[in-house]
Amino acid sequence: MTTETLAIPMKTGLKKVRPHLTQNESLLFEISSPGKKAYQLPELDVPAVDAAEALGEANVRHEIQHFPEVSEVETIRHFTRLSTYNFAIDLGLYPLGSCTMKYNPRINETVARTEGLAWAHPYQPDALSQGAMQVVAALEAALMEITGMDAVTLQPAAGAHGEWTGIMLVRALLESRGNARKKILVPDSAHGTNPATAAMCGYTVENIASTERGLIDLSALERMATEDVAAMMITNPNTVGVFEENIVKAAGILHSRGALVYMDGANMNALVGIARPGDFGVDVMHLNLHKTFSTPHGGGGPGAGPVAVKKELEPFLPAPRLVRNGDELVWNYDLPLTIGKVRAFYGNFGVLVRALAYILAHGGAGLRNATMDAILNANYIRKHLEPYYELPYKSPCMHECVFSDDKQAPQGVRTGDIAKRLIDYGFHPYTVSFPLIVHGALMIEPTETEPKRELDLFIDALISIAKEVDENPELVKSAPHMTRTSRVDEVTAARKPVVRWTPSGVK
Ligand SMILES: *Cc1c(COP(=O)(O)O)cnc(C)c1O
Repeated sequence: MTTETLAIPMKTGLKKVRPHLTQNESLLFEISSPGKKAYQLPELDVPAVDAAEALGEANVRHEIQHFPEVSEVETIRHFTRLSTYNFAIDLGLYPLGSCTMKYNPRINETVARTEGLAWAHPYQPDALSQGAMQVVAALEAALMEITGMDAVTLQPAAGAHGEWTGIMLVRALLESRGNARKKILVPDSAHGTNPATAAMCGYTVENIASTERGLIDLSALERMATEDVAAMMITNPNTVGVFEENIVKAAGILHSRGALVYMDGANMNALVGIARPGDFGVDVMHLNLHKTFSTPHGGGGPGAGPVAVKKELEPFLPAPRLVRNGDELVWNYDLPLTIGKVRAFYGNFGVLVRALAYILAHGGAGLRNATMDAILNANYIRKHLEPYYELPYKSPCMHECVFSDDKQAPQGVRTGDIAKRLIDYGFHPYTVSFPLIVHGALMIEPTETEPKRELDLFIDALISIAKEVDENPELVKSAPHMTRTSRVDEVTAARKPVVRWTPSGVK
């Protein structure tokens, strides 16, 4: 990086929210030097054992080639510096739309570390697992109440896995009625996982167009909901952040043709405590505990995608199911119609504990407040940015708002450029170019956990970038200027990733 590019942001008087560390970290292999150690052991006070004698010569490894040799402080600094490379919700606003990057309350972590829960073994007998099983039962009950559905499985490991489980349940129910049917209807505003799920479950996908207001076109649905249709997969509120007002009518049309309604519940942060999918016609849905219920996500860690169903789908739920036998909870494996297991044991238990802690800490009124604050925060951002960015759907939004780059495109600046420039201001980018029905989308989801001060800093940053686009578009097009690496070749990085370091001279 030249001093010239570094100077640009200063010249524009950029108001930076938080600093970046200099990111020029070497690999441990590169700073290794022979004989360095990060440990110190007391002198041996027992007779030394000859490893070859004890284990057999063939089993002894005398040296580990190219193993890094570094001191304790070098190790600590290396990993601490690496830990600062990524943006995190603990650093600031993470407005990645559709992902609900809310703050993860620390109390969840404390509860998940409770000894009896953290150390419970899945093979422990039921009699010794009653506490852990009560956690499962309590979470199932809470999610049933929140969604208005009749039964819940906690097994699926994430949202997409929940979708797959849910559509397999639909298939099982329809097969039991004699015909699994052929098609699944998906609105053009859907998340990519919806059509992918339908295809993986052996269905063909048909797209339903949206109206000008971003809602499903009911007359198109009337035409398309034929006897071949197994289900419609719908996200509500949808991906442009608008509540599907016609959901009851749409569900009525589908039900009258013998089809089911699947709801992608990833956007439940706009509904919890206010509206229940079970009350507006949904037959089966998933929840993302790692979004709505604050368990940590990002970076590929464990999540949970429970599936909630109406009575008629219950017999097909994954085995085992938790049932009450007198005062005891027991796992029931005797389920003749089950689609089988979808995950080892009972799901990602540690995530379930955190989600239950979140729900109980909030209580009903607290969850409702969180939802209203999430909606308020999104509308606050929408109103303040409306003069500077094009808003394709004008109605008040739910928990996220979607702009387009139409006002910036004439200067040659696209949504991806604005997102990169946001990094210079110390924020994680919003979701870029999704949903696909908005060309050049900027999808912003602040969540309820952001204080007004942080929202104002974010709004200031985006307004300042809009002005930069008018005055000096090149500055935005070549951003970010304050990171170790500026623009990477995203296509090659995705198609030909180099994930292994090879020491020089080694093939
Ligand atoms: C996040 C998301 C999914 C997928 O959930 P994962 O937990 O990432 O598998 C599906 N649909 C929508 C609308 C989402 O936002």
